[in-house]
Amino acid sequence: MKKIVSLLLVLVLVLSVVACSQPAKEETKDKKEEKKEEPKKEEKKEEPKKEAKVVNLYTTRHYESDDELYKKFEKETGIKVNVVNEKKAGALIEKIKSQKENVQADLFITADAGNLAKAKSAGILEMVDSAVLSKNIPEKYRDVDSHWFGLTKRARIMLYSKERVKPEDLKGLNYDKLSKDARWNKKLLVRSSSNIYNQSLVASFIEVLGEDGAKAWVKGIVSQMARKPEGNDRDQALAIKNKEGDIAISNSYYYGKLVNDKKPDSKYAGVADVVGIYFPNDDPNGVHVNISGIGLIKNAPNQEEAVKLMEFLSEVPQQEQFSSANYEFPVNKEAKMSELLKSWLDAQNIKELNEQKINLSVLGNNNAKALEIMTLENWDK
Ligand code: FE
Repeated sequence: MKKIVSLLLVLVLVLSVVACSQPAKEETKDKKEEKKEEPKKEEKKEEPKKEAKVVNLYTTRHYESDDELYKKFEKETGIKVNVVNEKKAGALIEKIKSQKENVQADLFITADAGNLAKAKSAGILEMVDSAVLSKNIPEKYRDVDSHWFGLTKRARIMLYSKERVKPEDLKGLNYDKLSKDARWNKKLLVRSSSNIYNQSLVASFIEVLGEDGAKAWVKGIVSQMARKPEGNDRDQALAIKNKEGDIAISNSYYYGKLVNDKKPDSKYAGVADVVGIYFPNDDPNGVHVNISGIGLIKNAPNQEEAVKLMEFLSEVPQQEQFSSANYEFPVNKEAKMSELLKSWLDAQNIKELNEQKINLSVLGNNNAKALEIMTLENWDK
């Protein structure tokens, strides 16, 4: 009897152990299956993050120093910058417009507020509300509707012959005197009216002098020209070296490029040795200053990354690199201009550039009128 009882007990024990252990085994099985599934879920989550880490930048600037800034941004943020280049702003605007419902471009960079205004009126730009950009970029270098923001400044100034122009010739020289004084009669060199820099210069005069004042200035400039307009800004400096004229209108950074042009086969070799730079800082209406700038593309696929890059480029270290590598003035007041630029201003005892007191948005508004005046006054004939 005892044996039967103990056998029954063993049987009960065995059964209970089996009964208890089965669900446990199933649980383990379930856990294993869960564990197997977990990594799959994680992989799915990571994919879209990887895709978003790019920004597609469409630009007419083609400087190695700009590419270095994009690489630095990539290193700091992990956001890859894809650069699409086009020489002319008009062609770049058309390229972006053609993307219509399938927009790939995130950012637009070009030189001159006149070109930025064209992009805005083509409807390809979008408003950006950024405290960083508002802090770093003074209001006058921003579009009134925040569709574009200036990144660098350049002044449209005079280059002169160090050999033939005397210090007294430059004393008090301003835009008005350049268009009137007998000293510059048939001695002035300037590029064609098809160039946006000249269109914006005249557009700025429409703003500060009025339409009649701008017309009189253009008429005067045409009468002072040493030759029919040809070539780019640097070619005007080359013409000074070749004694075709004594003074030229040019953007300031081109003088930096001439000073640092070390290519032995360059046609500009030696130009900076015989050509000087002059800022008409005493002009009662101020020096014409323009910008290179950036705008966010409407319906940009990588908007967040794009705004990050805009903000990055407005910060002090990047602003200082624009100045030292491409001889432009920073727009951010906290950033220092390069030593070379400072030496140009120091030579004329200029503490601060006396800039035209206009919001650069007006250059776009006045562009068509400016071109009309230049055509009527035979700028190119
Ligand atoms: Fe240029």
